[in-house]
Amino acid sequence: MNDAEKGPEEPPRAAFGHGENPPGIEVLGARDVPLGGPRAMTVRRTLPQRARTTIGAWCFADHYGPDDVADTGGMDVAPHPHIGLQTVSWLFSGEIEHRDSMGNHAFVRPGELNLMTGGHGISHSEVSTARTTTLHGVQLWVVLPEEHRNTGRDFQHHVPAPVRVDGAEIRVFLGTLAGDTSPVRTFTPLLGAELLLDPHSTTELAVDTGFEHGVLVDHGDVHVAGTTLRPAELGYLGTGNDTLTLTNGTDSVARVILLGGTPFEERIVMWWNFIGRSHEDIVEAREAWQNASDRFGEVDGYDGDRLPAPVLPNVRIAPRRNPANH
Ligand code: MN
Repeated sequence: MNDAEKGPEEPPRAAFGHGENPPGIEVLGARDVPLGGPRAMTVRRTLPQRARTTIGAWCFADHYGPDDVADTGGMDVAPHPHIGLQTVSWLFSGEIEHRDSMGNHAFVRPGELNLMTGGHGISHSEVSTARTTTLHGVQLWVVLPEEHRNTGRDFQHHVPAPVRVDGAEIRVFLGTLAGDTSPVRTFTPLLGAELLLDPHSTTELAVDTGFEHGVLVDHGDVHVAGTTLRPAELGYLGTGNDTLTLTNGTDSVARVILLGGTPFEERIVMWWNFIGRSHEDIVEAREAWQNASDRFGEVDGYDGDRLPAPVLPNVRIAPRRNPANH
């Protein structure tokens, strides 16, 4: 889904300020990125950005909608490759048809996790279906650690049962929260969950003190650690918290995506749909895609051509690493 992006991104502004927020939370603003497709559907990207590359191993967060597909043309991302990462598609409304080079043909629906592992190489297409009228959800990436980054292709599906806690309904799609554990395998300790916060409610959640967390607000004003997060903002909390307390300050249900994981310390190189460790990793993957190598396989059933890789920048692609956690 990163396909419209031609190179390393530069956020339009410094989206957080240490002076403005209490210690312990950074507010990461979103920037609009055209995704491509018939009328260039736009997504709101909060990861990666200059201030922060990863939260745990979460390295990419796109948030979109609610979009009237009659206006935006919906999603139509032609076959494209991935290496070194997993993709999570999570919808609030609408439906996306997924096809990949393992031969999977799946429908991504609200409340259902689809986790695709790129590993050494996979290719896939994503198209919103004709019956979709409103498209609304997130697309997230997980960077694979060095020892697993060349793992085989994989695709897993899981429908978490909603868990009811004081003030919220929770769907845990990866990791453990509120007494529920996702059966889906990850390569680093991770948390991913959708939270629906009751109007004017406060929810306390026990979390792993070794995790850092991201609170991405879809709808509502959500108070966390003394700061109010507004829609499309991603609040970052460092390690050391054993509880997260979320308060919905509005009189309608608020929706939040909660991400977490142990800090990812490796330097990574991100370009287009690839994550490697060096410029050479990226060059090699790009050549393999352009030459239609077996590394990525073929996607059957997509109506159209596959996406060509953008031209590489004239300079070596620099590795990224997070600033020191605070
Ligand atoms: Mn993709």
